[in-house]
Amino acid sequence: MKILTKKICLFLIFFLILFLPGVYPQQPNGKYTIVIHGGAGELDPNMPEETKSAYLNSLSAALNIGKKILENGGSSLDAVEQVVRYFEDDSLFNAGKGAVFTSEGKCELDASIMNGKDLSSGAVTGVTIIKNPISLARLVMDKTPHVLFAGRGAEELGKKFGVDIVDPSYFLTSQRREQLKKYMKEKEINKDGNTVGCVAIDQYGNIAASTSTGGLTGKMPGRVGDSPLINAGTYANNNTCGVSATGQGELFIRNTVSFNISALIEYKNMTLDNAANEMIFNRLPEGSGGIIAVDKNYNYTLMFNTSSMLRGAATSDGIMEVKIWK
Ligand code: ASP
Repeated sequence: MKILTKKICLFLIFFLILFLPGVYPQQPNGKYTIVIHGGAGELDPNMPEETKSAYLNSLSAALNIGKKILENGGSSLDAVEQVVRYFEDDSLFNAGKGAVFTSEGKCELDASIMNGKDLSSGAVTGVTIIKNPISLARLVMDKTPHVLFAGRGAEELGKKFGVDIVDPSYFLTSQRREQLKKYMKEKEINKDGNTVGCVAIDQYGNIAASTSTGGLTGKMPGRVGDSPLINAGTYANNNTCGVSATGQGELFIRNTVSFNISALIEYKNMTLDNAANEMIFNRLPEGSGGIIAVDKNYNYTLMFNTSSMLRGAATSDGIMEVKIWK
């Protein structure tokens, strides 16, 4: 009898150890880190004070949205989606309203999001009527068995899910029209950047990353950059880090920049800083762009080989910074 009781007790202990963590969620650890970017480029340091403040205020507002979610124990996925939604609604940035024009004077939008917990991811490319492409990317991840939807198929999916649909003219701004005119005349690429991204790790150790863009001014219709491509423009893995990239998309695709930062950490035991440094300064040419990233230990890096990158970071240790130039 005694032996039987002992066996039952042992069984119960094993049961509790094995199954309780699944039933009761992990305890929040009180820590978080969130980083944002509003694009890498060559912004003029002599820009009008009001433009500078507009950028910095917008970066702070976006960062605060994510910070609040994480402080309250929310998920990194919600934080990176909501921050990018804010940027998409702000016409200062090249994402959602205010996106850059294709050579035909239209906006074709790209976005992606990734969950580092299970590597699930969602992305859309070439959408023209979806008000917030990042939220459609999230729905692709959460509600379909697929990763990437393009053009009309993505838009039909958006309608089915009931996301906000707008007329293509909603995205157009006079500033971007001027930039296209200049590009067509001088063939000089617009170096404002202004693509947006966010990476965060929450109080449960889950990492998420998101990126959204209109691409490059004067891009050929149908051109797809790195931003909607998991591994190139966006990557997240709880075992290593999360990354969002910005810059000349073709170079980021060819060099699989975001995934490679994670791979250098995983396979070569590099620190986040060293891994990012390897990709940004040793693999990519100068002037091509930058990344923001956080690792599983709540460290972060904001690295770029251009003269500017609109960027910011906030941590549970009290760091709160937004910057434009080096
Ligand atoms: N990477 C984006 C693209 O090539 C543009 C940018 O980040 O400025 O579409």
